[in-house]
Amino acid sequence: MSEETIFAKIIRGEARADKVYEDEKLLAIKDIQPLAPVHILIIPKKFIRDISQATDEDQDLLGAMLLVATDIARQQGLEEGGYRLAFNCGEDAGLMVPHLHLHLIGGSKLGTPA
Ligand code: 5GP
Repeated sequence: MSEETIFAKIIRGEARADKVYEDEKLLAIKDIQPLAPVHILIIPKKFIRDISQATDEDQDLLGAMLLVATDIARQQGLEEGGYRLAFNCGEDAGLMVPHLHLHLIGGSKLGTPA
């Protein structure tokens, strides 16, 4: 599977994105087609195709993604109302970009996932 996704270009600074957080391991950007008032993608800079491809070596990275997501949720004022964190994996889940990313979605009443 090619590592050459739009997220790889955004990570390298070759494509524009509305960044909300960045550190040496992770980038968080606003989703270009938000499903709710807040829709942010937390993306590891390391290429991992999807959550099924993560290994023991990625434990810290996955933990960091979750903690950054909860920090951003707090900063976005979502703590009281609640929010959803989701990984899409594979075709049935509708994975569009094959570079691991965690969706942070909130700011309105969310529909029940299928
Ligand atoms: P997936 O279905 O792969 O889990 O979700 C990929 C997400 O990336 C979608 O919500 C889509 O709107 C978002 N996306 C796709 N291309 C771009 C882009 O160029 N910039 C940003 N910020 N988001 C994108």
